Amino acid sequence: MSLERYCQQFTRLTRAPNRVFPATTKHRAPHKPLLLLAVMEMVRRGEMITRFISITGELTELNTLFTTYWRRLMPVTHTSSIAFPFSRLHTEPFWELVPLPERQITREAINNITTVSQLRQLALGANLDDELFMFMTQADSRARLTGSLLEACFSEEGRQILWAEIGIQQQAFLYSRELEVRAHSRVQEDNTAVVYSDTVRDQGFRRAIIHCYDHRCALCGVRIITPEGHTVVEAAHIKPWSQFRDDAVQNGLALCRLCHWAFDEGLMNVDDDYNVLTSRQMAMAPNAAGFLMTLSGRPIIRPPDTALWPDPARLSWHRRHVGVGF
Ligand SMILES: [Zn+2]
Repeated sequence: MSLERYCQQFTRLTRAPNRVFPATTKHRAPHKPLLLLAVMEMVRRGEMITRFISITGELTELNTLFTTYWRRLMPVTHTSSIAFPFSRLHTEPFWELVPLPERQITREAINNITTVSQLRQLALGANLDDELFMFMTQADSRARLTGSLLEACFSEEGRQILWAEIGIQQQAFLYSRELEVRAHSRVQEDNTAVVYSDTVRDQGFRRAIIHCYDHRCALCGVRIITPEGHTVVEAAHIKPWSQFRDDAVQNGLALCRLCHWAFDEGLMNVDDDYNVLTSRQMAMAPNAAGFLMTLSGRPIIRPPDTALWPDPARLSWHRRHVGVGF
């Protein structure tokens, strides 16, 4: 099929009209076009290299993109799951849901899906048309597809918002890659020379750290990713960004929310041998979380690649300036 034909199909997506959807989406459901934008970004990055979109594999990153685009257009009270468009795109000619063995894709089964857990009970993933996937891998064709989608599904204001967000996501991905490459370089470039916006920088640093630690908390080892793709960890700076402007991967740790708070408060730290330190102050507190005290002396979780390990000098700085009573 020709590129022109796919562009037409993108402009004719079945989208429910409803006044709960804002003018930026032309008062129609934005789920399908936003998912397709996320898919095209994944293909552009080279993170989706076949026409098959796995529910277990790519979905976490795909969901991050879908949710980011969604939040730029929709009121905060209006949430949605990626499972909704992932299953409903089945009604479009270029998207085929692939069922689990011995499961059948029926209209009734699709209509009952509102969460990723439900989607996983029905499908392994989805196949794009071969030719559509091929067009998505080519920059000029992808630009045509994106243009058609945005023109048909969003108002002028909506298009501007989405173009800006697409740009932010592309730069944040680039920055995260740069940070990982820089970690392997002998020359540690001066971060202050980087001209990215704070939004791009925040997202890029977060992405690099969570990727390096594979979603695992460096201090307590917890690793939880919900079926919707939400991770338990955040990206923490060892030496604070506000003072040092240092986004080096070696200045980062992936930490769950509790460990992040305890680390920033100076109640937890890391010694020169990469073991967890817990402060005496925490041990004396009447309501101290017993769980955190059990981590004392245990080795922290580090990325498999030693070049990405936290820097002992930066950890030492944290012990001296942020630590309390070790
Ligand atoms: Zn933790």
